[in-house]
Parts: sequence; structure tokens; C-alpha cells
Amino acid sequence: MTDIDTKVRLAAFKWLEEQCQIYGDTLPRKVLEQGFIFQSKQIHLIGPQGIFIPKGLSIPLTITTSPNSPYDDKDIGDGLFHYKYRGTDGQHRENKGLREAMIRKIPLIYLFGIGVGKYVPEWPVEIVEDNPSALTFTVAVDEKKNWFGESNAVKGTYPLRNETDIDAKRRYLTVQTRQRLHQQRFRERVLQAYQEQCAMCRLRHPELLEAIHIIPDSEPKGEPIVPNGISLCNLHHTAFDRFVLGIRPDYIIEVRGDILEEEDGPMLRHGLQALNNQKIILPRSRKDCPDPDRLSDRYEKFKKFILN
Ligand SMILES: [Zn+2]
Repeated sequence: MTDIDTKVRLAAFKWLEEQCQIYGDTLPRKVLEQGFIFQSKQIHLIGPQGIFIPKGLSIPLTITTSPNSPYDDKDIGDGLFHYKYRGTDGQHRENKGLREAMIRKIPLIYLFGIGVGKYVPEWPVEIVEDNPSALTFTVAVDEKKNWFGESNAVKGTYPLRNETDIDAKRRYLTVQTRQRLHQQRFRERVLQAYQEQCAMCRLRHPELLEAIHIIPDSEPKGEPIVPNGISLCNLHHTAFDRFVLGIRPDYIIEVRGDILEEEDGPMLRHGLQALNNQKIILPRSRKDCPDPDRLSDRYEKFKKFILN
């Protein structure tokens, strides 16, 4: 016989996985607010406070970092996240709930705010430490594997875990999460600068847009800053990456000669050839515009590719 808390939690994990299939890594707040129906009851995943306990449960289901303080998780240095108490009273119901989750090793969902009304969910996470003097809890990311199998959901139990090496694994997963968050924040800032449209074809579907790096993030000048990014749709992202076209430092698109000579259907004509000699759509704010020096570096590579 398993308790309702475990069942709701496993159902929430499964539901989140489905939502991420639809929305990708970033979920809109309204989706989390609405949540899902469990045994004819609506289970919400987010509330006005950071620590959220669904009605009828006593242990928090989610913890949320506000998009207004997106760097709360920065500079921890120990490979883990620190999450602030609610207020300063350690005995507040929500703080007690998190402590209870820690003692009983109950997994939670961490919702990282990365933009207005946008959250990257990470689960399962566990509270691994209580730091009363700093008014924080330490949060670690756990392994997703084995948590969502049908059998677990039906049995309503959490999988047994091998406790050896769990710390190293957690730290590794938490570092991965942090990298993913940085990528998502970069994407968010770039898409916003371009008002969520492709800088080449104006396509306005965020789900089909990507924030590309002008200089790859593996290189010294490849920082995840807006002037090193451009918002492009999937087609134009790939076209830019594969040197089907290039962008000059004066923001003019140059389509490769052999592509211009080709004859084919409307996708080639409108999607690629028509872009030749057009100026890309720029962000409204000058400081967000692509850095001409970086574009120049990149354009040189494009030219080199054509000559080869
Ligand atoms: Zn496009």
C-alpha cells in the first residue's frame, strides 16, 4: 500500500516528461499552473511562492527559482544548488516540508525561471542538506533513469538505488543541469532580442527557432552573449552552420553560388535563393546586434569553405 504523496509525485514526473516532449526544455508558466488531473483532482505544479505544496499533500512537490533572480544558482562551486528558505523562520510549514523531504529522501521537481513566465524543469532532485545558518537547503540532481517506468508508476514506488557513487553521480548531473540552464538562458535572451523571429525569414514560431552562436562556444570568442547570437529558424540555422549561406559583417546575407544556380521547387527559391543580398533582421537595441568582428571571423570561414 503506497501513500497518495508518492502516487501524485510519480504522476507529476510522467506528466512533465510528456510536456517536455511538446514544449522542449522550457515550459510556459500557464502549463505548470494548470498542471494535470489525478484521481479527478487538479494538481498544480507552481504557486505564488517558491516552495509549492499541492493541496492535500504535506511535502512540497516543486521548488521554483524566480526569473527575476536567474543567477541564484550561480557560483556555488560545490557542484550543487542552494535553495533559499521561505522567509527566515526555519519552522515555516514549507521549510519544514522540505526538511521532511530530505529526511525521507523524497524526490522533488526544481523549476528554474529563465525568462518571464518560462521555466526549465529538472527532476528528480533531492534535498541533501539543511543549512540553517545560511537559511538554505542544498539541492542535488538525481538520475532520471528508472524513475518513470510503467511498473514504478503502477506499483507506486520509487526505484531502489545503489547508494555507492551517488555523490559523484549527483554532482555530475548537477553540473550538466547548470550547463543546460546557461544554454536555455542564452536562447531566451537571443530570441527576445529578435522578438522571437528568424533573422532571415521572419518565421515567428519560437518552437522552430534556435539561438545560434556566431563563434562556436568551444572557441575563445564564443561567449554566450547576445552579440554572439542570432535567432534563426531550424532551416536557416543549419544553412548557416553548413556554409550554404554566410552573413557579412555589414549584415548582408550571401548565398553560395552553386545554390543560386540550382533549379528546384519553392523551398529552394523562397527559402534560400531569395535571401541573397538581403539584410538580416536586427534587434531593436543596438547593443544586442551581432558583433561585426565576430561576423567577420565567421564570414572568413565561409569564404574559405567556398574556395575549397
Ligand atoms: Zn528562417
